[in-house]
Amino acid sequence: MELSESRDLRGGNPCWVPNASHAFASDTLPASQIDVLIIGAGIMGAMLADRLSAQGLQLLLLDRRPPAQGATAASTALVMWGADTPLSLLSEKIGEKEAVRRWKRVHAAAGNLARYIDSEGIDCARIDRPELYLAGTLLDEKALRAEGDMRRTNGLPSEFIAADAVAERFDIHARPALLSAGSYEVDPVKLTLALLARARDRGAKACFPIDAVALSEVTDGVIVTLNDGRTVKAKRIILATGYERSPWFLPPAFRLSSSFAIATRPGTAPMWRENAMIWEASSPYLYTRATADGRVIAGGEDEDFSDASKRDALISAKSGTIAAKLAAMIAVEDIAVDCAWAAAFGGSPDGLPAIGQAANHDRVWLAYGFGGNGVTFAALGAELLTAEFAGDRDGDADCFSPYRFG
Ligand SMILES: Cc1cc2nc3c(=O)[nH]c(=O)nc-3n(C[C@H](O)[C@H](O)[C@H](O)COP(=O)(O)OP(=O)(O)OC[C@H]3O[C@@H](n4cnc5c(N)ncnc54)[C@H](O)[C@@H]3O)c2cc1C
Repeated sequence: MELSESRDLRGGNPCWVPNASHAFASDTLPASQIDVLIIGAGIMGAMLADRLSAQGLQLLLLDRRPPAQGATAASTALVMWGADTPLSLLSEKIGEKEAVRRWKRVHAAAGNLARYIDSEGIDCARIDRPELYLAGTLLDEKALRAEGDMRRTNGLPSEFIAADAVAERFDIHARPALLSAGSYEVDPVKLTLALLARARDRGAKACFPIDAVALSEVTDGVIVTLNDGRTVKAKRIILATGYERSPWFLPPAFRLSSSFAIATRPGTAPMWRENAMIWEASSPYLYTRATADGRVIAGGEDEDFSDASKRDALISAKSGTIAAKLAAMIAVEDIAVDCAWAAAFGGSPDGLPAIGQAANHDRVWLAYGFGGNGVTFAALGAELLTAEFAGDRDGDADCFSPYRFG
């Protein structure tokens, strides 16, 4: 069995696939034992590398692709704290106190990341945006009001607005919504590469294209075997392999589906007021945002399967459907699509990620940002594992354990 799956993660033309200006040369594989080996150089691996290298740990990242060319290059990168499973619905499953605890922690991670990007001057086109969560099939107007009340009572910044007020303020089709603060957009490829560059400035190495194929734990570390037969020894290893899941460690509750997205040409936005990030309380949902250079990005139309050729065969049809639904949502005649793409997408039963120690392996850690908030979950993963490795276990760590579903 492979250490992680091998997948065709994306097809079509995502709007930020790295170009020559993103070129990032591979380092030479270090000969001596390192402190932490991170497998995967997407947003999760980069976020971890930045934080752990700041702790003075010697790091190595390995990737079978160049950095940021996995799922991260397909991300639409709305950085939000509102998760796929609404707070009120999660409360029905695990109780309000526990649900609020998880949501507040995710909210804090999104805010911490924004402050960190700004204070460190990390160049990733971060822009604060109002977030609109429209009534849909999951939460109708009444349920959306209740969701807003529960959030506000628990200190989360959302307020209910009636359909007319939504149309008047944002100039889109009238629909009741929750308006929230604390969300923002980024360029996910720029952010990943900037974080990796920071880690490299502190001595971290990033080597690619290299496939990690096996690992074995020994008394003083973990030995990872590479596809060319070489080995690397580390005190600890983190699997940040994204939607190429590790069947050895990640439970089957973390499932894959397929998702679709489009972008208009630069300079099209704004097509509605304030460039609010908009999504629906539906499953699956349609969502949209603008970019710093004025593209409008929209996505959704998810399918339950993860077969890449079946997925990519649907790009043209799905792109037309997304454009038509977006036009209806924002009340415009037509959307001219410039790029369209499809990608594997990972979800979990509670919309939250899998972060924590691998079962029965003291030196192996998992960092999987499954769910629609993958960028926020990468920031959360970095917070939780940085605390763990500093010997200061985070009080919320169990909330995101990969084994919480049994
Ligand atoms: C269409 C789409 C839209 C999305 N929209 C949003 C959004 O709006 N907001 C948001 O927050 N999140 C969003 N996400 C989710 C977010 O993009 C992902 O959670 C995130 O990019 C995953 O990052 P990652 O680093 O875990 O995975 P990846 O970027 O895939 O990185 C994992 C890396 O591991 C490497 N790897 C795997 N196995 C091995 C191995 N054995 N050896 C060596 N290397 C290996 C891969 O090559 C890959 O580069 C979206 C995702 C998709 C697909």
